[in-house]
Amino acid sequence: MLRTHTCGELRLSDVGKEVTLSGWLQKSRDIGTIGFIDLRDRYGITQLSFDEGRNKPVFDIARTLGREYVLTITGTVIERTAKNPKITTGDIEVQVSNIEILNESKTPPFTIEEETDGGDELRMKFRYLDLRREVVRKNLELRHKVSKYTRQYLDNQNFIEVETPVLIKSTPEGARDFIVPSRLNEGEWYALPQSPQTFKQLLMVSGFDRYYQIVKCFRDEDLRADRQPEFTQIDCEMSFVEQEDILNTFEGLIKYLFKEVKGLDIPNVPRMNYDDAMRLYGCDKPDIRFDMQFVYLDEVAKGKGFGIFDTAETIIAINAKGAANYTRKQLDELTEFVKRPQIGAKGLIYCRVGDDGSLKSSVDKFYDQEALQLWATACKADKNDLILVLSGDLNSTRKQMNELRLEVGKQLGLRQPDNYKALWVTDFPLLELDEESNRWHAMHHPFTSPKPEDIALMQTDPGKIRANAYDLVINGVEIGGGSIRIHNRDLQKQMFSLLGFTDEQAQAQFGFLMNAFEYGAPPHGGLAFGFDRLCSLFGGSETIRDFIAFPKNNMGRDVMIDAPSVISDEQKKELGVQS
Ligand code: ASP
Repeated sequence: MLRTHTCGELRLSDVGKEVTLSGWLQKSRDIGTIGFIDLRDRYGITQLSFDEGRNKPVFDIARTLGREYVLTITGTVIERTAKNPKITTGDIEVQVSNIEILNESKTPPFTIEEETDGGDELRMKFRYLDLRREVVRKNLELRHKVSKYTRQYLDNQNFIEVETPVLIKSTPEGARDFIVPSRLNEGEWYALPQSPQTFKQLLMVSGFDRYYQIVKCFRDEDLRADRQPEFTQIDCEMSFVEQEDILNTFEGLIKYLFKEVKGLDIPNVPRMNYDDAMRLYGCDKPDIRFDMQFVYLDEVAKGKGFGIFDTAETIIAINAKGAANYTRKQLDELTEFVKRPQIGAKGLIYCRVGDDGSLKSSVDKFYDQEALQLWATACKADKNDLILVLSGDLNSTRKQMNELRLEVGKQLGLRQPDNYKALWVTDFPLLELDEESNRWHAMHHPFTSPKPEDIALMQTDPGKIRANAYDLVINGVEIGGGSIRIHNRDLQKQMFSLLGFTDEQAQAQFGFLMNAFEYGAPPHGGLAFGFDRLCSLFGGSETIRDFIAFPKNNMGRDVMIDAPSVISDEQKKELGVQS
């Protein structure tokens, strides 16, 4: 070994020892006849000292070294005169007696420090240097920890990790497939898995009973900050279970991860059904770190001559507690916020409750104190509260109010990243109507089972069918979801036909699964958690990219290796994809 210790290891108790360290030159400085180098490795930084009087040849070499040179040094641990409490090795330094240059380095294109001068693109191009920075390395260490404890928990629960193939045919999760040409079967293509969904179900038919896999999935979607074309899931499936068993098992996993990774005991995860989530928060992944639930003012605010409310399908209010001191300017900004095209509200009505209980609204012309008092009572508004109101058609107003609620929650400091609130959202609708094509789509995926009591609705009112499907939401972020599956061939066939597949199409694409259901398929269900998202949540960041060693940019490019890239005509010909 080219070292006896790491650069994060030496303490006062090591003073007097002769040690060998290896690492990268982080920083060097010399003050006259004494020089210092900060030597860095994965474990930390150790200060090295060079004394011209004591060892001139070594001192002379040290002066010539640049940043990021790779060095091995030998020397004696001594107590520092000026200690540095900010680093773990800050009490000591190593007085160097021998130095070996293992490799030189060009000057890096940005500083390898916590606060770097490198922009995003540059750091991605030189990601291997970016990964030398402690902040980035810490994120990957956290990722490692999350995967280690995930495996530990699932292993303890008798889950077995099974790898499923990457070259498959389409598994619909609602995104576009990445496809790969088959050289040996010219004119035919593989799809990369959007998830191992069908394979894990087949493993249940095989009797594996409890499966998991920390697995790469691929979805060709337009990218956002929290999306990557290839991402990792903790993918799980269980046999002989009902929804409740799955929720309990994976609530256990989440609690275990919070405990082991963050040192936090989180309480039991509350549950809310989809209809309530939509009614009270206007979205299926509510951030329940704060209340501010929707209050419907239809009964108390209609019929007073205010046309906008009178003609609206619904009127929704939230109570921003203690926010009556919002200035006119702040309220104008909130109005601008909801009127942005992405949100699309026409305007924002407000009503302040003064510290004497008096009510002052932006529609005083139509509502006297008594009428406004009805709003205040409905919203449980007290002195100094601020009521914000939007109106319009039900779906849009809910969406808009969801955005407004989140914004106001943020402004009032109610969405702290280190305050974690988890929630199960259950009973999702099985189907949603695609307005454009006027066709039903599976809200989750086509293998999700309807609630048994709703199966009859398949013939009569498909939009009303609820699914045995659930999502785990933490701090308003969807961490994952799953469902109890269909395990009966006829029901699966019926589902495909509802989704507009002909029998032939269903057989051609999913015959393998429906056939398997004829050989003793057990009842089963499962879920998948977004592993990258979970890591970024634990790391208190919104971008999953920070927790992936070699991520893609928002054009889906890896700018370091420069992929995707063109291929030669020869290669195209060989693959049979020459146009
Ligand atoms: N395959 C699903 C997904 O990727 C998860 C599941 O249903 O288990 O979202």
